Order: sequence, then C-alpha cells, then structure tokens
Amino acid sequence: VHYLDRPERWHKVDLVRRRDASAAGGWAYEAHLVVLGDGYRSPATRARREAAAGLERVGGVDANVSNLAVVSFPRSFEPADGEVASTRITVTDEEQDRLARQRRRDRGRQRALQRSRRAGNPSQYQLSRRQRRRARRRAEGGLAERQVSVPGGARVADARGRPRQPYRDDALSRTHRRVRCRHAEAAAGFRTAGAQRARRLAAAMVADHGPHLRIEEGSVSAWFRRWGRACLAFTPGRLVGALERECTAAGGALLRVGTAGTALSQHCLCGARVAKTLGQRVHACPSCGLTGDRDLVSAALAAFTVVDQPSLPASARVDYQRSSRALGAYGQRLQAAVAESRSQVAPLTLRNPDRGAQGPGRRRRRVPARLSTAPPGSSTAVDRNAHAHASARVGRPPVVWTGLWTFGPAPGRRSGMAGLPR
Ligand SMILES: [Zn+2]
Repeated sequence: VHYLDRPERWHKVDLVRRRDASAAGGWAYEAHLVVLGDGYRSPATRARREAAAGLERVGGVDANVSNLAVVSFPRSFEPADGEVASTRITVTDEEQDRLARQRRRDRGRQRALQRSRRAGNPSQYQLSRRQRRRARRRAEGGLAERQVSVPGGARVADARGRPRQPYRDDALSRTHRRVRCRHAEAAAGFRTAGAQRARRLAAAMVADHGPHLRIEEGSVSAWFRRWGRACLAFTPGRLVGALERECTAAGGALLRVGTAGTALSQHCLCGARVAKTLGQRVHACPSCGLTGDRDLVSAALAAFTVVDQPSLPASARVDYQRSSRALGAYGQRLQAAVAESRSQVAPLTLRNPDRGAQGPGRRRRRVPARLSTAPPGSSTAVDRNAHAHASARVGRPPVVWTGLWTFGPAPGRRSGMAGLPR
C-alpha cells in the first residue's frame, strides 16, 4: 500500500518494461508512479545550488566537438571582488580508449547476432559471393555438394525487395535472445551513464562559476554531420543542455548569444580582430600580447557579451570597453587563466558533488534495479525498500517522483502483464 500525502496532486502509474538479461523472458516489468510537481532535490543538491546562486559571478562558455571551456569573473569584473576562474573539459585518452573498447564489444555482439540469425534460418539467406564461387569450383572438380551452415549473402526477397519471410517469423535461438538482451541493456546503460556524466559536470561547473553564463549559439547537429564519432564521444549538446538546466535550477540562466555580432573566436579581449582557422588552437594577439587556448579566450570573451534585446540573440555584442579594462586589471592572472594547460578536467573521474554529503550508505538516488528479484508471480509482493522509498519521497512536497516496483511474470508465462494491478 502506498499513498500520497496530497491525493489531489496529479499523478499516474505507468507500466513499463525494460530489457534485463537476468530476468525471466528477458524483460523486467516495472510500475512507475509519476507525480506532477518540481523534481526531487536532495539536501546536498539544494545546498550546492544555493551556494552557486550566491556566487555573484558571470561567465562565458565555449563549446565545440571535443571541449567545453568556461571562464568566469566576479560580477563587477574588479580584481578586488574575486579572481578570474577557468575550467576546460575534454575527453581524455583513457576515455577514448574505453569508448573504442565499448564500440568493439558492440560490433562483436552485433556480428554474433547476425551470424546466429543466419545459422538459425539458412533458407532465408543466399550464399555469399565467396561461398558461391567455392560451390562452383567444387562442382567443376566433381566433388560432392557441401552444406553451408551460415550463408553469408543477402536476405531472400521478392521482386520489390521485401524479405520473403518477415524477420519476426525467424527462428531465434535462446543464446540469440540472451545476446540481444545484453546488447539492449548495454546500450541503455551507456546512455544513462552519459546523461549522468553530463549532469555531474554541469553541477561542478555551476558550483565553481555560478549560474549566470553566456554561450555562443551553435548548431550541434552541424557538428554531428561533420564530426559524428568525436561528437558521440564528447556529447557536447548533452553537456550544454545539462548546463542550461543546472543554471536555471540554481536561479540563473545560460544565455544564448548570436554569433553574427560577436564572432568570439575571431577576437581578442582588447578588441582587436585575431583571425584563426578552425585548426588553429592557440590565440596569440599581436596588439596586446595575450596568448592562450583559443577556446578559453573565446569563453572569456563570452563573459563580456551584452544582449540589447533579451529575446533576440542576434542583438548580442561584446562590451570591449569592459573587457579591455578587465584585461588591464587582471593582467598576468587572466593570461594564466586562459593559458593552454590550465584545469583539464577528466569527465568521468570527476567527483560527484551529490555524493560526498550523502555518505557511502545512501548513494542510490532511485529505487535500485535489483528489486526485480521479487519472487516470480508475486504481483503484490512489493519490496519493502521500495515502500520506504516511496513514502519517504512522496512525503516531501513538491516532488516528481518516479518510483519503481518490479513484479515477476505470472506463473507459467514467459512474460506478461498479468497480475499487475490496473
Ligand atoms: Zn589583444
């Protein structure tokens, strides 16, 4: 039994299933209770956001396919009120290796699936060119015809290219189903890990630089067209999205400024135009002598953008008077902040800011997936932990709570919704 402390609050229960290789039938069934309201925030998160809101800093963000740079100043841009701070996030070699390993495993699983489908349904596939050549050679040499266990050619199809037998009617082995399940589980786990990484990084950046940030408008989809794989490793769009949500949650905003009036990557803080091609990673200004990483310089410049009409990103311009004054006031310290080697943060080794205050025993934010160990058929046996979780979270208004109950499949059935309360 669960109850809402305010029954009039809009809520609903969704029945969902997700891939789980260890569950009977390959699916875990869950009931999600969704309550309309603000999301749940742990005390640690609330404290972190309150601290960030009180920072009195403004910053600029520069995002591209493989890095995200943030540079922030105190709101007054006066050295007396605070230091210039910079952070640069990039994908480490270690992480690149990990992603490459993951891609290899994915490919291996896909190949195994393809091979086992062909082996289970040999009449639905033609021979590959090599297999045909070999059969011909054997026939010419007077040898007996040899049975091919895994035909390597195209699917047998009709004149319009439709498979003669629908894929859903294929005979699939148990191993095939298990591998398919693991594949789907791994893909979902990868997506979840990426989203968590983005949230964690965004939280750390807003905690350091405050929630008042500006970013040059860019088209993530254009990056994907050009640098698909690099984008997949770094997921800049997801990072910027997470940063935007974190800024809003901490009472600020990630303001988007148009590129037309600013051209941040082509200018210096002194106001001089320093043209760079995409391949040039270093900014070196001939008129004021500022040198540094191009992404950090353009992030620093973004901090000085002003938008004349808030609803119109194209009305953005850079306040060069203010930036050159800050350049003079901060001098060497600004130079050090935008220097190339400064603050490289490895995305996945970053400490989770939510974790420290919670202590080791309270790490899970959601009802753990292992609730799926409820005995099969026990449609009413809701795990007691889930229960405590439900009442604890629903008891704290306002909440968007997604709790999970898992029910075993009904006895005698591979899978199904029978036994779930309607
Ligand atoms: Zn300059």
